[in-house]
Amino acid sequence: RVVLGIETSCDDTGAAVVDENGTILGEALHCQKDIHLKSGGIIPTVAQQLHRDNINKVVDQAIHASGISPDELSAIATTVKPGLGLCLGVGLSYSLELVNKYHKPFIPIHHMEAHALTVRLLHPVEFPFLVLLISGGHCILAVVSGVSEFMMLGQSLDEAPGDTLDKVARRLSLINHPECSAMSGGEAIEHLALQGDRMICKLKIPMSHHRDCNFSFAGLRNQVNKVIEQKEAEEGICKGQLLTCVADIAAAVQHTVAHHLAQRTQRAIYFCKKEGLLPTERACLVASGGVASNRSIRRVLQTVTDKSDMTLLCPPPMLCTDNGVMIAWNGIEKLRTGVDVLHNVDGASYEPRASLGTDISKLVRKAA
Ligand code: ATP
Ligand code: FE
Repeated sequence: RVVLGIETSCDDTGAAVVDENGTILGEALHCQKDIHLKSGGIIPTVAQQLHRDNINKVVDQAIHASGISPDELSAIATTVKPGLGLCLGVGLSYSLELVNKYHKPFIPIHHMEAHALTVRLLHPVEFPFLVLLISGGHCILAVVSGVSEFMMLGQSLDEAPGDTLDKVARRLSLINHPECSAMSGGEAIEHLALQGDRMICKLKIPMSHHRDCNFSFAGLRNQVNKVIEQKEAEEGICKGQLLTCVADIAAAVQHTVAHHLAQRTQRAIYFCKKEGLLPTERACLVASGGVASNRSIRRVLQTVTDKSDMTLLCPPPMLCTDNGVMIAWNGIEKLRTGVDVLHNVDGASYEPRASLGTDISKLVRKAA
């Protein structure tokens, strides 16, 4: 079995051909990050046009590198939810053209399910496991008990951690920082945090006393903005011109994000143990999504799993951020189990908003 995966849900055009052993036969990625960094955020129509301009080249490159002819593919898997509607539409219509041309089954993919299952391409992680999805658009804790079986324990009540880090980086004008050009906000903050002293600016960890597994990052961003405004006023400089203490602010915000994630994860582990939702021995915590490539955040999560006698697993950074490999792999997993393998694509459509599995966050609060 060999699947072609196509990803266009946000700002990366990705394609890959993966086989059922998890061997990546061919892959290609076109990143729009540089363009969106310059405009200060993703403009959906610009992202859509860039997907249109690049999708054919990216898919051709992945197929060519794989040495497989399109006729030999077992299926075509494509992200259809959640994401930017205009961008999902480009991937879907392109995929359906291929599906019709080569008479292949079509496998619609949920982008967050793909982030969650990527790890199984590399490690034989058994179901059920706990997953922490931390990315540009999501922050979710869920129990994964099968390829399409997710129970959501909690999620962000406002923004996602990647979005917060990107906005803080933008407020600090890190795109103009000589050491951070071409880095995403999260990468820039990770880089500068290494040189900073987090103790210099004190930030409060959000929701410490909330007895559930939800997250919140908007208040933290307000705290950081206030610190930045205060420093700018103290130094008598214009907005976004701060140079001193930028690394200290990066270190403090990264530390606070990491500890907020850790506290909520600890609560999820407590709930899962109490309810018997995870294996009693060496249960796994999987962290995935772009923010999970952060080494400092991984270290803090590692202390949580060590304390609970669990194993922490994260995909390598290249597979944490968006890519075609995770979509192709999810296609392989669905093909194996026979879920969502469409031989008739008449009703195929995309959904910009989509929840992840069954929401049991209210039960978590009751049990607390
Ligand atoms: P979603 O998956 O929720 O739809 P997305 O696909 O846009 O959102 P990803 O590609 O998974 O998000 O991740 C991108 C995010 O990861 C960006 O916000 C970026 O700043 C963040 N990120 C990337 N590298 C790092 C890092 N080393 N440390 C922290 N954050 C990072
Ligand atoms: Fe993503």
